[in-house]
Amino acid sequence: MSSDANTPVLRNCIRLPLPEDELLEVTAKAKDYAIMHGAAMRSKTAFSPDSLNFAPFVLVPSSFPRKEFEKAVALQPIINRLMHNVAHDEEFITTTLAETIKVDEFTANLFNIYRKVLAHGFTQAYSIGLLRSDYMAHVSEGCAIKQVEINTVASSFAGIATQLVPQQKFVLSELGHADKLHNMPNNKALSGLCDGMVKAWDIYAKPKAVILFIIEDVSYNICDQRFHEFYIRETYPHIKVLRRTLTEVHREGKLGLGKELLLGNQEVAVIYFRAGYEPGHYHSQAEWDARYLMETSLAIKCPSIHYHLAGTKKVQQALAQPAVLERFINDPEEIKAVGKIFTGLYSLDDNEAGNASYEMALRTPERFVLKPQREGGGNNVYGVDIPDALKRMSRVERSAWILMDLIHPPLTKGYMVRPGGDMPPQIVDMVSELGIFGVVIGDAEHIVHNYQAGHMLRTKLSTANEGGVAAGLGALDSPYLI
Ligand code: ADP
Ligand code: MG
Ligand code: MG
Repeated sequence: MSSDANTPVLRNCIRLPLPEDELLEVTAKAKDYAIMHGAAMRSKTAFSPDSLNFAPFVLVPSSFPRKEFEKAVALQPIINRLMHNVAHDEEFITTTLAETIKVDEFTANLFNIYRKVLAHGFTQAYSIGLLRSDYMAHVSEGCAIKQVEINTVASSFAGIATQLVPQQKFVLSELGHADKLHNMPNNKALSGLCDGMVKAWDIYAKPKAVILFIIEDVSYNICDQRFHEFYIRETYPHIKVLRRTLTEVHREGKLGLGKELLLGNQEVAVIYFRAGYEPGHYHSQAEWDARYLMETSLAIKCPSIHYHLAGTKKVQQALAQPAVLERFINDPEEIKAVGKIFTGLYSLDDNEAGNASYEMALRTPERFVLKPQREGGGNNVYGVDIPDALKRMSRVERSAWILMDLIHPPLTKGYMVRPGGDMPPQIVDMVSELGIFGVVIGDAEHIVHNYQAGHMLRTKLSTANEGGVAAGLGALDSPYLI
């Protein structure tokens, strides 16, 4: 879907194919390296809490344009500030989501929490954003990066991505290419994000208070989450991490006299959501009540409800409209630089502009991807499937979706290795998506911490629409800069 015969192929870091005996040997080693270093997940098909599979990976690092990587890294503090400002702009969030929440029940539920919290005033002025801005290089603009989306909730894979760099360096060295290791940028994503949580914990300033991870009923991406937990305990031995589902918070949680979030007798300083971003995480009103309870508490939320809403696709679409960035960024150079990473994003609201994008999508669906207000992959509609999907919706229902220009990334060729996959693996055509992590902490008036915090690369078969690693089409990777 995302490529055709004319799509350029990026130069590989080493010559392929590898001789079969060497390929078999190094792949077997890389699998063991992954399992032994926690680049692993729980199996969805043969689940057991007692065992792990390695997470799908690309054997040798995929090439990524150096200039574009460096651009994405340099932009992250600006994007952090942008998202922080957007999250604190009540009028912008309210008007941008006005049509969407009429038809999208999930976003409406989030928005209702926001509305209720606004009405009573925020108990905790500070928020922490652990963001991940995702990009693909776009071939028709000289491989300039274009933003796929920005995540403000449960931005994952910092833990495993950090492990992938030494793993792929090991593989390159095994293959006799130690001279090339310097082209793989170091990745401090895990420490970057966790140190951010601890900075928020410091702001809360109660030595006995804990950090709470909100988790799914079953965590398949357990290693990534545990890396965060273990890093915090190992680096800051006095800080405890608790893991609870929304259901458990509903059962155990209450507010203290100063609106402290209490779980039993433990006070929570920081709440880190690794769940709560999709409807399936809310089994009943109990989970929504738990979310509201946490939101009204004194704990510092990652994300707070306004940060969560600022990360919706609808807000992303609104930000890409002309002159909107000026509302949030002062420096004209920064506005220009951020504006360039946006590709065409179109509203499908029930008005003149929305109807024009609807007609455009019916005329040339192959140019677009259609996105609802959802996270976690697997929710979008692509190309020729768009007209049918749109025609099934009423005019008002369309406003729950946005339309976006398809980005066409260059190809790379390499070996994708997955549990139970072919041995030796075959060379396949792939495309990559770069994620840059950012940390931002502040209140409505001030930003007290703002930094870029490492990266991740996810690579999928060029024929796949989406590359969810857990879903089976994507694989973990890290950039080899060319
Ligand atoms: P989610 O929040 O569910 O991850 P995304 O916007 O990241 O939603 O879309 C999921 C996947 O769909 C991306 O990882 C990417 O592979 C593909 N995708 C999304 N937008 C585009 C686009 N504009 N062009 C090409 N592929 C896209
Ligand atoms: Mg997302
Ligand atoms: Mg995504």
